[in-house]
Amino acid sequence: MRIVDHFIAGSAGGAGAGRESEIFDPNTGQVQAKVRLGTQADLDAAVAAAQAAQPAWAATNPQRRARVMFAFKALVEANMDELAHLLSSEHGKVIADSKGDIQRGLEVIEFACGIPHVLKGEYTQGAGPGIDVYSMRQPIGIGAGITPFNFPAMIPLWMSGVAIACGNAFILKPSERDPSVPVRLAELFREAGLPEGILQVVHGDKEMVDAILDHPAIGAVSFVGSSDIAHYVYRRGVAAGKRVQAMGGAKNHGIVMPDADLDQVVADLAGAAFGSAGERCMALPVVVPVGEKTAVALRQKLIPAIEALRVGVSTDADAHYGPVVNAAHRARVENWIQTGVDEGAELVVDGRGFALQGHEEGFFIGPSLFDHVTPQMSAYQEEIFGPVLQIVRANDFEEALRLPSDHQYGNGVAIFTRNGHAAREFAARVNVGMVGINVPIPVPVAYHTFGGWKRSAYGDTNQHGMEGVKFWTKVKTITQRWPDGGVGAGDSAFIIPTMG
Ligand code: NAD
Repeated sequence: MRIVDHFIAGSAGGAGAGRESEIFDPNTGQVQAKVRLGTQADLDAAVAAAQAAQPAWAATNPQRRARVMFAFKALVEANMDELAHLLSSEHGKVIADSKGDIQRGLEVIEFACGIPHVLKGEYTQGAGPGIDVYSMRQPIGIGAGITPFNFPAMIPLWMSGVAIACGNAFILKPSERDPSVPVRLAELFREAGLPEGILQVVHGDKEMVDAILDHPAIGAVSFVGSSDIAHYVYRRGVAAGKRVQAMGGAKNHGIVMPDADLDQVVADLAGAAFGSAGERCMALPVVVPVGEKTAVALRQKLIPAIEALRVGVSTDADAHYGPVVNAAHRARVENWIQTGVDEGAELVVDGRGFALQGHEEGFFIGPSLFDHVTPQMSAYQEEIFGPVLQIVRANDFEEALRLPSDHQYGNGVAIFTRNGHAAREFAARVNVGMVGINVPIPVPVAYHTFGGWKRSAYGDTNQHGMEGVKFWTKVKTITQRWPDGGVGAGDSAFIIPTMG
């Protein structure tokens, strides 16, 4: 049985054998490998290696650090097929989507290639008589990232790319469900010239997460996962004196105005609700048609589009989506479908009990469509994270605007309309962090920043872009004077200095 080990101080291995967790092939339902679940001793070894390596890395000029990013990007591109197959075999998303996962991460590396430019500080000459003020951004030291299963390449690269380019050492604790790609990325970083100890991977579950949150040498923690755990990580990390950003779950809405191009909306919804089997924090699992006529027409077009979706193994180039990540998650999604039925929503298309011929043990779920879902239902309030689309009908624009605004999650939202005024009002007033206008999955490009509101994110900085640079650096501000020994030399000042 293949064992996925930690990657500490430039090579595989940790403090010794301990607990392990199974890694499935979601296409077959079989265990394909095991991952070591690390302990405090593994983390201590990684921290020691990081402490040894980080000062020299921080002192390496930013252009040289950027060159490692350029080399890493080229290596990932050269290994794209291998990485995509590895990712797909543990996650279950189709190959083309796996490549997208890697590519979106690489775009953050492209941003990090420009780190010399963005790390330049501010300077004021003559802030007072003979006084200059300048600021510099310095690395935190050692940062850590704790990442979810659903983007095993993109999210580790969101964090590590910016943290490392800024001069930090970075310790990654990826999801134990699909940990192989994160390790390969760390190996490729080494090959690209990153010094040993600057990017390390420790595996584990709650025990390792708690060790990270409590470790006094780790100065900043970035987390992405479900909201309850995000909140826990935020509280515990902050209590330990760390800087923490913790992104959580989502329930993104797509508002469909009466003037929208419904054929385009249906095509967009099919991909956004069912792509990656709905296991995306920026999936669109709720659609809100405005007005009865829109609802009827949309439902009529959605049903055949959903019935035409092809569910297949993740290597099937014609499949729209593959299996979900494991049996427990499939059971959870199917339970939510039952809850929706019990709460009185109309199950228009039922994806439960789906079996793929020849892969009966795989973790497949057919697509499901609910209509007449209401805000009072727990199946609406909670994240399902599966191939399930819910129609929540709204009478008018104001009611549609209230739905995502009042929801506990506030990650992404989209509006489909031909009316510029309605779109502009919606974008300005909706209580959600990322907005798409006729764009179903509004994941911002790497040089902007990613982050939701409400229970979708704890902390006050977003991922990547300049917000990422702020998160992974501390500002130091210097006020300098070079006295010439002339008038006033040697005088003491007993009042607070002002520049007046
Ligand atoms: P998860 O919360 O189960 O796991 C995330 C990380 O936390 C993993 O590394 C896991 O090992 C660790 N963890 C799990 N249980 C823990 C515990 N009790 N204590 C401490 N750490 C623990 O999330 P997941 O199922 O891997 O990922 C799916 C979730 O992530 C969804 O809710 C999705 O919306 C969310 N997500 C959010 C974003 C975003 O940017 N907002 C992006 C991707 C995914």
